Order: sequence, then structure tokens, then C-alpha cells
Amino acid sequence: METDCSLLNLIKELYPICRSITGEGVRETLRIIQKRVPLEIQEVPSGTKVFDWTVPLEWNVTDAYVMNREGKRVIDFQSHNLHLMSYSVPVRKKMSLEELRPHLFSLPAHPEWIPYRTSYYKENWGFCMRHVDFEELSDEEYDVVIDSTLQAGSLTYGELYLPGEASDEILVSCHVCHPSLCNDNLSGITVAVKLAETMAARSRRYSYRFLFIPGTIGSITWLAQNEQIVPRIRHGLVITGVGDAGNVTYKKSRQGDAEIDRAMTHVLRHSGEAHSIIDFFPYGYDERQYCSPGFNLPIGCFMRTLHGQYPEYHSSADNLDLVRSESLSRSYADCLQAFELLEGNRVYVSQNPRCEPQLGRRGLYRAVAGQQENQCRELALLWVLNMSDGRHALLDIADRAALPFGQIQSAAEALVEAELLKEYRSPGND
Ligand code: ZN
Repeated sequence: METDCSLLNLIKELYPICRSITGEGVRETLRIIQKRVPLEIQEVPSGTKVFDWTVPLEWNVTDAYVMNREGKRVIDFQSHNLHLMSYSVPVRKKMSLEELRPHLFSLPAHPEWIPYRTSYYKENWGFCMRHVDFEELSDEEYDVVIDSTLQAGSLTYGELYLPGEASDEILVSCHVCHPSLCNDNLSGITVAVKLAETMAARSRRYSYRFLFIPGTIGSITWLAQNEQIVPRIRHGLVITGVGDAGNVTYKKSRQGDAEIDRAMTHVLRHSGEAHSIIDFFPYGYDERQYCSPGFNLPIGCFMRTLHGQYPEYHSSADNLDLVRSESLSRSYADCLQAFELLEGNRVYVSQNPRCEPQLGRRGLYRAVAGQQENQCRELALLWVLNMSDGRHALLDIADRAALPFGQIQSAAEALVEAELLKEYRSPGND
């Protein structure tokens, strides 16, 4: 498998930035993505009502630390942005270890890792630290400083719309709200950027919309403000956690048998890679919002190891060592193949439905005689001819024939060329 260094390079560039669900870190991230694809950066003011939620105050941080009596920073946001709990309110106070302790978080099971904690919707503050450092803290007075602002501003997200022949859309969504975490957050962003670059350079049957949004509140905000676009979404993927060494996990849409579910299942089954396909459940990433019952969109979630099932999840060990160029490239290739399948998944009608047409006379058998998998190709021609009755799309035929979609598609193209097949146009669907 050809690996693509540009994917890992983008992760390296974005890794140091302190992101959260709002604030300068998200803007800076989107501006870097903008150098690759022409994203529009959208700002939604704090206080905007979005369904049952409200766009929160904007959070920014310049510095945060806990300093001991000798003037040493025993916890320092400058050395790792995970040290500060996201959305911590400003603090400037001297306090004892006793007072400080309820605001300290560590991972006894992984004493060298810094945990990732947030408190978006409840005013709080906290520091996250290596358990080994936590155990070193002595009972003394500390200077606790969180130089943050939590004030009216906006929620920022990025949106790229690529118009196609049809106004029907394929939606790709990834979250951009985690700070220095590589697999959970940056891997999804980088694969989505690469897919956007590829699709932008191609002619497209579908329109594509790429959303780079803060998790949960971002998809809720987008859905609340774009209800008129929602009916155009025909297929979609949430892409996240696609850089670790584990196998692919595809979580189906709530519908369970949407075309994207069938397309992804087909791609993975024929990929030769170990993978698992799991049913929808209302926990995880932004598929929770897209697949809420009032929308019930045909949007699945493409991951590798499931969130929470790798020990490095939501800790400083989800770093550059955890993500692999090969996993990113394979994830990209699988998603691209699913889009190619959806692009090519058309319905045809045989122009010679009464008994088989004589393929040899038209050079269709001979044309493939010298090629490998000769028999499969002949079989593909027969399957396409037999099932093209205006009611079966090429993916139905590929699955029924247990042949790769590409082979069925090539057979259909050859039959169209020989005027034995015509694309089906349902009335009113030009
Ligand atoms: Zn996460």
C-alpha cells in the first residue's frame, strides 16, 4: 500500500495547537486546513439557540500553571496543553494541596500519561497531570494561575461545499475540538482533508459537503442552522480515529441498511483487510446528532479501533507515535472507494431482455478472452444483463453475484458501449 506522508505532515502541523469547542485554536486549525482546501470559516455567536442547546461562551487561554514555593511550575500548560482542563474558568489564587487536590486529575493505571478532561457546560477548573508527578506533590502552598477568558464570542467551524451534477449531497464530518490528541481528532481531520482535495479535483455526480466542526455542539449547530439542506443529504460519513494500528470499524447508520452502509460493507468485504461492521448505537461521535430520530440521516461512522477501547484514548499517549501513515492511507483509500462506489451505483435496463444477447457476435466475450479473471468478467456481463431490469442498481448486482463492484461496473460500461444496456431514468428524475 502506497503511504502518503502529507497525511502525517498535516497531523504534525496541527498537533501542538490548543483546540477546544470554541476559540482561537479552532480558527488556527481551520486556517491551516484552508491552505489545502478552500474552506469557508463560519462563526456562530455565543448565545445562539440551537435546538435544545445554546452556543457557549468562547474560551481562550494564554497561560496556566501551578507554582510551588521555590517558583517552579510543577504543572505547566506551556509544556503540554492537556495539563489544563478544557474550558477552565480563570483562577489566580494561593492554595494548599488540600484545596488544590479536588481539581487535579491523573491516571494511576498509566502513571506517565496526562489525561484529557473537559468541562464545557459546567463552570469548573482543573489540571491534568502524570500520576508520577502527582505523587511528588508536597503539602505546601501553591500559586494557582489560569489565565483564561470565557466570554461572548463565537463557535467556529469550517465548511467546504463542492457542487456536483446533482444537488444530492454526500456529507463528510469530523471533529476539530480536541487539543494535542492525534488519533482522536487529527487523524479524522487529515483523512477528510485528503478526501476533499481528491474530490475537488474530480468531476462529481454528487455534491460534497465537508464539515470541520467541534464535536456535539458543532453538529447540533450546523443541523439547527441548515435544516433546508438536510433533505439533500443522501449519504455521509463521520470520520474519526483512523490512524491507529487497529483494524477498521464501520458503525452503520441508524437506518442500518442505507446505501452508505451497503457501500462501505461491500468495500471492506472486498478489501482483503480484517475489519468489523457494527450496528448503530447512540454513543460515540457526531453520528449521534445526524442519526437522531428527527433527522435519521444515512450517515455512518468510519473508525479504526473503537473510541475508548485503546488505552491511549483521551490521554497524552494519543500522540504522534500512535498514528501510522499506513493506517491513514488505508482509511483514506477505503472511504474514497466507498464514494467511488456511490458515484457509480446506477440503475440500468437491458435493451435485450428476451433471452441472452449473443455476446460473442458483439466481441464482448472475445474482448476479454486474453485477460485474467476471464470467467469472472463473463459472469459479470451475465449478471448485469440479467438483473438490469430497472429495479436493481449495480451494487445490488455486485452483492448478489459476490463480485467486486468495479468488475460489475466495467461490465456495465462494456454493455452500454455495445448498446445492450441503458441507464434507467425514472420519471421525473433527469
Ligand atoms: Zn474524544
